[in-house]
This record gives sequence, C-alpha cells and structure tokens, in this order.
Amino acid sequence: MFDPPVRDSERLPDGPVPGQRGLRVRAWGADPVEDELPRPQPEAGEVLVQVEACGVGLTVLNCINGDLGNDPELLPRVPGHELAGRVVARGPGVPARLEGRRVVAYFYLSCESCRWCWAGLHPRCERLAGFVGVHRDGGYAEFVALPAANVITVSDELDPVAATVVPDAVATPVHVCGSRAKVVPTDRVVVIGAGGGVGAHMVQVAGLHGASVAGFDRGDRKLEVIEGLGARPVDSSDFAAVDGGGLWDAGPPTVVIDLLGTSDSLGWATANLAPGGRVVVLTTFPDGAGTLSPRELVFAEASVLGSRYASKAEVAAAAELVASGRIRPVIGETTGPDDVLDLHTALRDGTLTGRGALTWQ
Ligand SMILES: [Zn+2]
Repeated sequence: MFDPPVRDSERLPDGPVPGQRGLRVRAWGADPVEDELPRPQPEAGEVLVQVEACGVGLTVLNCINGDLGNDPELLPRVPGHELAGRVVARGPGVPARLEGRRVVAYFYLSCESCRWCWAGLHPRCERLAGFVGVHRDGGYAEFVALPAANVITVSDELDPVAATVVPDAVATPVHVCGSRAKVVPTDRVVVIGAGGGVGAHMVQVAGLHGASVAGFDRGDRKLEVIEGLGARPVDSSDFAAVDGGGLWDAGPPTVVIDLLGTSDSLGWATANLAPGGRVVVLTTFPDGAGTLSPRELVFAEASVLGSRYASKAEVAAAAELVASGRIRPVIGETTGPDDVLDLHTALRDGTLTGRGALTWQ
C-alpha cells in the first residue's frame, strides 16, 4: 500500500529549539568532549531519532581518530554509528509508518541509486557520501537526525542496549559468514580476535552456519568468553606456537577470519589453511600490511577475500538473530556519558570483552 502524504502539522512544532546533551569531536584524534548542543531538526527525507543506546567499539575510535575522514570542515562532530533509538519526528516526505518505531542506524551513507545499491550491496556504493558519526552526526548525543534510508526498523521488543550490537558487530559477521566465506556445516572456522566486539559475534554466527569454530585471542577473560560462546578457545599470544593442523582431527581450518590484520595473523592464516580454504580480512588500518606467499596460495588453491561491512538486509537479519535469542549480545560494559572515555581506554588497552555501550538513561 502507499503511504499517506505528510502534512505540515505532523512536522516538529515551531518555537525555540530545545537543547540536548552530547559529546562532540572538536579535533580529529582528540577525545570527544561533552557539549550542550541544539537538538537537530529533521529535514526533508530525514527522521529524528531519540538515542537510547550507542555501541562503543574500535571502529568508533577509528572514526574519532580521523581514519574514515579527517576534513576539519566536518568538525565539530558527534561520533557513534552503532545507535539504537526511537523515531520521534520526521521531515517532509518520510512515511508515517516510521513514527515511533525502534530503529538502528545503517553506518554507510549510501546513495540508493547506483548499481550496487540497487543490488543491495550498499558498501560498494559508487557515490558513498561517507559514514554516520564521521560525515554527519551519530549516536553520542540524546538525539540525532538521520536520512530515513539510514534507519532500519527492528522489533520493538528488542532491548536497546542489546540492539547496539546489531548494526555492525552482528551484521558484519552475517555478511562474512553468509555472503563472503559462505560457511557450511563441514567448515572448520578460525576467528582471529574472537574476544572482541565483532569477534565474539563472529564465532556465534559461524556456529549458526553449523561450522566447528575455534576462537583465537589472548587473556583468560576473553578465552573464557569464547568458550562460553561454544567455540574452542585458543591462546594466540604466540602465533608460531599454534599448530593449525592440531586444532581438529579432521584437518586444518577451511576458513580463517582475520580480525587483527597483522603480518603475524595473516601469515598464520595462509600457512595453516586447508586446501581450497578461504581467508577473510576485515581490518582497514591505514598502516596494516602483510606478505602473501603466492606459493602457499597456489599449492592450497586458497582464496583471500576482503569483506566490507554489510548490506541493509543483512543488518535487518542481524536484528532478527538478536531479537530471537539465537545470537547473544556480548557487551562487556555499559556506561553513561560521564564515563564513556574510560570505555575508550579499555578498548585501546584491549581489556574490554565484546562491545561497550553508552546509554542516556
Ligand atoms: Zn549507491
């Protein structure tokens, strides 16, 4: 059915614009600082979202660091792309069905009108306008205005803190395991960096595909969590000491998902892969580098795959997996705005298990 036209009376009331609390980046690479901000108003095609919770992960730190865009013209900027909240107002042209719905943000500002967007492959968009939390404001504030095309409705029953893992930490594994590595029940999957925010959900999604899963990380707490998620924990403090052939009786890993992206991790992956195996890389650090051995790739008929974020349909699928309880959100710590920088420190130190979350309640 068609949506009814938007009437002017359904827009925000006239009058003084109320303020809101929020944290903003004032210089790329510096910590965000709390500010009293004007509450944004949704323009044509936009919705106003009251943020209930926002995920805190390494990608947010990369955004704050300027790795995904560092034009001073973009400042000051409210960071945070893994936001969950409710649509409380809408601009002209936005369908009424979004009003009041719980939504999560889609990270990429894709164009919706290129061949890749038409195919549902939004991360390959030819006219990508940037990222939520970098090229327009994100979820480190009480309210955010977003293009209606950048909000994905989720179940109203889904807890908003749990929902913060949906748009990236679960959607990315859905894309990796389903679209890129195409994991099947006979696969033996190694996840390198399995105790982190994406990793703790990657082992679960690979398990849903029926694979046997081993999770690599360091530190007792992370290894305990990996075991609790049904994967085999492996201490990867020293990659040279880990024998891929000894992990399973059936043979070495058929899939290695490398969330570290170091020369050690990538070297281990290609050297330990079963014939016909796939290595998936996901990191985008500007200085990341590794050496691939053509000889190893040829002898193993190995495939090396890059995997970039997820489609909007995959974000919606991730929401269903979390809402139905088939994926358990791994959120190491939830905090208010006063202590969010402590979470950043824990992330940098590698001591946070899973994701962090910022809430405004
Ligand atoms: Zn596009």
